[in-house]
Amino acid sequence: MSVEGSPPEGRMDLDKIEQGIRLVLEGIGEDADREGLLRTPNRVAEMYKEILDGTHACLSDLIDPIPSDQHQELVLIKDIPFYSICEHHLTPFFGFAHVAYIPSRCGKIAGLSKLARLVKVAAARLQLQERLTSSIADTLVEALDPEGVLVLVQAEHLCMSMRGVRTAGAQTVTSAVRGIFRTSSATRAEVLSLIEAPKK
Ligand code: ZN
Repeated sequence: MSVEGSPPEGRMDLDKIEQGIRLVLEGIGEDADREGLLRTPNRVAEMYKEILDGTHACLSDLIDPIPSDQHQELVLIKDIPFYSICEHHLTPFFGFAHVAYIPSRCGKIAGLSKLARLVKVAAARLQLQERLTSSIADTLVEALDPEGVLVLVQAEHLCMSMRGVRTAGAQTVTSAVRGIFRTSSATRAEVLSLIEAPKK
């Protein structure tokens, strides 16, 4: 059911964002009509359109599983960069995601580029790091029915670096662990050591 005044699902109302940003400028006590700010509401609306373009995307549609009975060993993609927006403060948080899974015996795998795309699209919406992490893991569980999934996300939050406790550079680390990575500490330790291994 759509709420009155909200855009149809899958579409952003850029005019409404522009009006809102103009109100923010006025609320700050700025002259929204001075030259430097005149096009700012429009620029911000266009920017939100770009950086939040994963808002209505269905994550499991991105995976497109490929049948394969050849590989039932670990697949790990490290250091996938991402940028997201904290839904509590509308400030950026950004860092790297590490995504690992072990295919099941029936052997569905995902194209490697699809995993990086999943991270980027899941980040391109108003997010919490905790939800970003678990939604990546749960999407892979749903799409691939794998033996296990482990997702580790490390990020700096500007809402912590610029305001509040002002801990610039502090990294928040979250993990989501499913299947064999949860039940087998040896398997979990193996993947964590690969994630932590320095780049050559
Ligand atoms: Zn925040």
